[in-house]
This record gives sequence, structure tokens and C-alpha cells, in this order.
Amino acid sequence: MMVQYQALKREAGDCLLFYRMGDFFELFFDDAKTAAAVLDIALTSRGEHDGQPIPMCGVPVHAAENYLARLIKAGCRVAIAEQVETPEEAKKRGGSKALVARDIVRFVTAGTLTEEALLEPRRANVLAAVCEVRGTCGVAMCDISTGRMDLEECAAGELPAVLARIGATEVVAPEEWAARPGEAIPRPHGDFASDEGEARLKAVHGVATLDGFGSFTRAMLAAAGGLIAYLDHAGRGKLPLLLPPVAQDGTARLAMDAATRASLEVVEAQGGGRAGSLLAAVDRCVTGAGARQLAEDLAAPLTDRAVILDRLALVHWFHADPLLRADLRDVLRHLPDIGRALGRVVAGRGSPRDLGQLRDGLSEARRIRDHLEAKPDRPAMLEELLPKLGGHGALTDLLSQALVPSPPTERGQGGFIAEGYDAALDELRQVSGNARRAIAVLEAKYRDETGIAALKIRHNGVLGYFIEVPAKHADRLMAPDSGFTHRQTMAGAVRFNSLHLHEEASRIAEAGGHALAAEDAHFEELVGQVCAAREGIAATAAALARIDVAAGLAERAAEGGWCRPEIVEQACLEIEGGRHPVVEAALSRTGERFVANDCTLSPDDRLWLIGGPNMGGKSTFLRQNALIVLLAQAGAYVPAARARIGLVDRLFSRVGASDNLARGRSTFMVEMVETAAILAQATERSFVILDEVGRGTSTYDGLALAWAVVEAIHERNKCRCLFATHYHELVRLAETCDALSLHHVRAREWKGELVLLHELAEGPADRSYGLAVARLAGVPKEVVARAKSVLDRLEKGRAQTGGLAAGLGDLPLFAAAAEAEVEQCDELRERLQGLDVDALTPREALDLLYELKREAFT
Ligand code: ADP
Repeated sequence: MMVQYQALKREAGDCLLFYRMGDFFELFFDDAKTAAAVLDIALTSRGEHDGQPIPMCGVPVHAAENYLARLIKAGCRVAIAEQVETPEEAKKRGGSKALVARDIVRFVTAGTLTEEALLEPRRANVLAAVCEVRGTCGVAMCDISTGRMDLEECAAGELPAVLARIGATEVVAPEEWAARPGEAIPRPHGDFASDEGEARLKAVHGVATLDGFGSFTRAMLAAAGGLIAYLDHAGRGKLPLLLPPVAQDGTARLAMDAATRASLEVVEAQGGGRAGSLLAAVDRCVTGAGARQLAEDLAAPLTDRAVILDRLALVHWFHADPLLRADLRDVLRHLPDIGRALGRVVAGRGSPRDLGQLRDGLSEARRIRDHLEAKPDRPAMLEELLPKLGGHGALTDLLSQALVPSPPTERGQGGFIAEGYDAALDELRQVSGNARRAIAVLEAKYRDETGIAALKIRHNGVLGYFIEVPAKHADRLMAPDSGFTHRQTMAGAVRFNSLHLHEEASRIAEAGGHALAAEDAHFEELVGQVCAAREGIAATAAALARIDVAAGLAERAAEGGWCRPEIVEQACLEIEGGRHPVVEAALSRTGERFVANDCTLSPDDRLWLIGGPNMGGKSTFLRQNALIVLLAQAGAYVPAARARIGLVDRLFSRVGASDNLARGRSTFMVEMVETAAILAQATERSFVILDEVGRGTSTYDGLALAWAVVEAIHERNKCRCLFATHYHELVRLAETCDALSLHHVRAREWKGELVLLHELAEGPADRSYGLAVARLAGVPKEVVARAKSVLDRLEKGRAQTGGLAAGLGDLPLFAAAAEAEVEQCDELRERLQGLDVDALTPREALDLLYELKREAFT
């Protein structure tokens, strides 16, 4: 056995090998250790290898899906080795000791899942293949759970940004490729040949030329080749659903690099996970497919004004009619995920239930079409979508006639073909029905004949049908001429057979077997029909998703009082009453109000320098404007009272000094690398938000860098930019940069407390309130007092000599100064305690006050 195991393990490579033994999948050696640790199951051992016990663990086959899900989540890949013959066949082949033949039937990896239980309903599951052809990168991506496949080409330097946009769960790349991204799985070089890729695509779609699908570059075809070869390998020759490839034009999208995506928390919050992301704050979709489409839309906003306006018009249509929207969303909410059901059926992993879902989904889609078609003033995009909702009449009718109302998930047990669909099947069922009734009659007859009221005819998996009587009555049936034959003696009962029962039982078994075979044949036929209609069904699923997205966005807009943005070509950004959707939602949970702010950038006033206290709302303001642009270009309403947005080609965000030490680069280095990227790439059409650039280094360096960066953005990039900083010195840039203006977030000191108004105002910040913020944050009083005296000296020194640290020379040490202050306080307290206030004349009291004040401040 170990020889067979080792051979399969070699084939499985670095995947965990699930080795089928009876009702279990067993794992051995290191695989067992890994799986036992991840799954938290017992690690045992079996036999020996090189004198050492062999570690082993196992999972029951019927519960394997659940264990698989956990392993895949933990980043493992699994090869499933099944028994490919029965023990009887093995014996026939190689004698009584023959080992049952096993073979790897499938590789289960994060990117090649189709099972409902292993997939997240609201998240696409993308597998990507990347390669390089003569300096250009090809990227092929597919979601085999729904079959969509996109091909794209990009410059080598853009690859990380493209991969960040796609958010693939698994990436494969040629083994020898040095620039392989992150965790990519190495695949043979030969898989990524462009002519091979072209041939594979043609073969998959049964076409002589790919021209009908669009035009594809060599790099795209090479990547497609690598992708299909990997799917072929993972499915052991059985390919999943693949729809015709779509050539994507990366330049038709709003470009965002990985750092920008992460800092804006578009589809994932910085801590990982969906909660706290823009997506979570916007998503009101009622179907999984809609949620997946929305995630994709937000990850890849558009730059084509016409398409954006089309999407906005559809959202507007749903926004304007709340009743229609509510009705539609009610219907959509109960819609099965037909895209994924189709994926399973085409991949050969479909169940009767999947067919039932397709039946229900497709007929519901047709009803939605009829309903929407009756409404007036339909926008252009809807006119394009509606026809895609129909066109499956024959297939839906067929499925409706063929299937029972709620078909089971198991195909092997039968019982899913409806009565009246197949006369022969009905007859077989009748035969077994009759035989069952005959058995019931038999039971009554035997009770009568034997006089044993407790006699029963029962059924189990081992014996089939049998007659059972309580042990005390068994003797009567044991007699040789009783007509009963003994089969089994249990604790309190004895079981028998009879000729008649045997006959009826055989009839049931035979008819049942035939009925199962008939149902199986019908299943295959129905699957064939579904496969033939795959492209149409996928188009219906996509159209439903798009409608759900638009209705969901309209719902969100209505809920939050969002507005329809105006999209223009000029490089402006006019936002009235803008809000940050995530911060606003978080505040409203604690009953706080979000303060809306305006932003008005234009070619003449395109760079805003924003000062003001920490925690004053600078980052929030920066991000909210970036998010509003992103939402608008994704075709969504925006959280503002009014928005006029000049199309943005690239969006950059550098917010907060996130600690990236884990990646081996210091925070400041990361900050500078990202700033360099912005300076190199931002165009006059770009929008950049920069928060506290330069704070990762010493004051002088930081100030100097911030100064130079602002100048460069103003003079060279000429993009729209919001720049938050705590360097007061930068306000002087307003004197030389004519398209730069000064703004600040307002704050007030009231009764010694700092009040943050979160309100943006024109003009420079008067001061940064750093010490007040420190006090607000609970920094001990003495430390704040100490900082205050350091600050006073610094400012004095700067006023006198122009040097920042010049005033620090005569500053006493912190400990000494603090001690002196404590002593002074004690003295003061003593004097006040010893004072008889009633005995003082007003004049004496006044003199004493003057004296105390003098002492305290010298
Ligand atoms: P800064 O960048 O100036 O340090 P932040 O933008 O990080 O400040 O904001 C700090 C906190 O202030 C936020 O977490 C939020 O709770 C609150 N805040 C920010 N902007 C607003 C606003 N416009 N209205 C209400 N609260 C706000």
C-alpha cells in the first residue's frame, strides 16, 4: 500500500494527499501533521517506515467538504486520490491480496472551487495566470464558479497594481520567472506558450478563430494557455465552465496602485476582512451575484464617461421609483445563484438541486423582464439588459416538466424526476409502489395467520426486507413447515424471510434499480441541455447581477440621502456637503453626527494645503473626496449634497504612515517609494491625496521633503491634490504657487478644553493644538506642562536666532524641572492652608495674589 501511496504522493507534489480508504480519506507523514494541526484532529500512526511510526490522520468522506474548506482557507492545496475500482474488481484482477487501484481524481485549490459550501456567496473566486512575453505581462483571470474569463495585458511595472485590482485567491506563473508575484504557484514553462494558449482557447470553445471574441495579444494568449493548462491539471482533464474570453483594456479603468487600494480600504479594511471597507458601507445588494459584481465595480471604476452615465441613469431610474425598487428587490432576494449553479453543472459536479435552481432562477428572470418591460422611460442600459433575462423558454419548460418541485442535492438516490415526465419511469415506480403495498398486505396476512399482533415487516440496508417477531413468539415461526426461514436472532426479536416476501422485495429492488438508471439518464440529458445553453444562462446571471447592483445602489442612496454626481471632462472637483460613508456610519452607531464638508478644486485652484489639529478630520476629509470620485466613476451615487466631478484617470492615496516593517522596509522608505510613484505617474487628470508626507523622518528632512513634493505636484504633475500637513511653514508656499490655496480644519479652545469642530475653513491654521490634543488623549498633566515649556523655548529660540533648537540650550533637564515644579506646588499648598482669609483686608488679598502669581511663573 505504501508503494502505491508514495507514487500518488509524488504526483500530488506539494499538495496534501487525501488517500481514500473505505469511508475515510487518510493522510500520512508530513501531510498528516499539517492537516492535524490545521483541522485540530487527532494525529495517530499506522505501521512503520524506516523504523519510525508513520504519522496518520483521517477525515470521514461524508464530511470531507467541511474539512477541505478549512484546509483551503488555511492556504493548503489538496489532491484527492479515490478508489477507481471496487474491491471485487481488484480481486478479479489480481487475486485475493490485490490492492484496490487509486488515482488522483482532482486537485482542490483555492482558485478551482465550485462547491457551494466552499465558496463565499458574496465574493468572486478568481484564479489568475501571469507571464511575460517580450517585456509585456499577460494576465488571464477566471472565476470558474461562474465561468467568466478576462484577458489583459500590462507593462511589467503595472503588474502589482493589476493583481491588486483582481484580488485573485490563487495565482500561477511560469516556474522560471524570476519576477513571479508573491505566493504564485510555479507551473511548467511550456504551459505558457502563446500558440498553445490560442489552440487551447479555440478547442475549449470549438471555434476555428478567436476573432469573434475580440482581439488578443500574444501575452494575453500565453497567460490564457497557462491558465487553461492549470485548470486541466487541477481537474485531471475535466475542464470547468469557461465562457468566451473578454479582452480587457486596462486604460479604460481608473488606475489605482496597491497602496492606494489598501489605504482607501476599497473592498477590504486595513485589518483584512470586509467590515469597515467602502464596499461594506455601500453594498445593499440582495443577491450574492450582485454583491460580487459590486465588489468588481468598486475595485475597477471606469474612465469612460458614456458608460458611467449609463450606469448612473439606471441607478437613477430605480432611485426615482421606490415602490418598483422594493418589489424588485423582494423578488431578487429569493433568486438562486444561477451563475454558480451553472458552473457546477458544467464542471460535472452538478446536482438535481442545481438544475432546480436553474429552473427557478431562469423562470423568475423572465418574470422580472416582463415586469420591468411594462414600466415607462426605461434607461438605455436596461433596454440592453432586459432581453438577456429571457430566451430560455424551452429549457425552463423542460426543467419544469422534468423535475420535482424541490430536487435533492444527492443525485444517486433518485427521486428528482417528476411524475408524468417519463411513462416508463412512472411504471417502474408503480411496480415498486404496488410491491410495497403488497408487502403491507402480506404483513396483515401473516399477523392473521400466525396470530402474532406484534409481527412486522421491516427493512434495513443489510438484510433488505424481513419479518420480525418478538423473541417469545419466535418458536411458532421456527417450525420447518411454517413457510418462514430464519435469518437473524437479535436480543429481543427474531427475523425471518418468506418466499412471498422475497418475491415482492426482488420486484422492488429490480424496479428501483431500473428507475434509478432511468433518472440518471434523464439527469445527463438535462445537464446536456443546460450545457448547450451555457452562454445564454451566464448572460442572464450577469444581467440580473447588474440590475441588483443598480437597485442596491439606489437603495443605499435613498437611505443616506446621496446624490447623483455630474460627470464632466474638465479637471474640476466640486463637492458640496461631502461625507465619508464609513466614518459616518461608524459615528451614527454611537449617535454622533458627521460634519459634512465642501471641496472645490479647479484648474486655477487645484492644490489644497490643509492644516489644523490632529484628530481634526484631515484624513477623513481627504479620503472622503477620493471615495466620492471612486464611487462616481464606478457609476454610483455619492455621499454628498451635490457633486460635479471631472473624470480622473489615476487616483493616488498616501494616508497615514502604516507600519510596513513586516515587509522588510522601514515606514519612511515605503512612504518615499509611494511618493516617488505618485510624482512619476500623476497626470493633469489625476487626483492625489497626501496625508502628512514627510512625518516619517526628522523635522527638517520631513519639512524639506514635504515642501519639495508640494512644489513638484504644483509645477510638474499639475494634478488635483489635497495635501494635509502639520508643517506650518508650508503655508508660505501659497506665496509662490498660484494654484495652491490654504485651508484648515477648525478647532476651538473652550474653558481650557479643545473642541474639534471637524469643519473645513479657508486660510491657514493658526496653530496645531498638538498639546491640547495630547491632553485630550490623556497624556499626564506634568508631561503636557513640560512639553509646553519646551515649546515656549523653541519658539523663543526660533524668533531670536532662526534656529529651531536654538532655544533648547538653557532648558533644564526634564526630571530636575519636574521635581522643582512639584516642590513649588507643595510650598504653595502649605502657604494657602496656613492662610486666614477672613483676616485679610481687600488690599492685602490683592497684594498676596500678585505675589503668588509672581512666584509661580518665575
Ligand atoms: P486627522 O487626520 O486630522 O488627524 P481624522 O480624519 O483621522 O483626523 O479624524 C479623527 C476622528 O475625528 C475620526 O476618527 C472621526 O471620528 C472624527 N471625524 C473626522 N471627520 C469628521 C467629521 N467630518 N465629522 C465628524 N467627525 C469627524
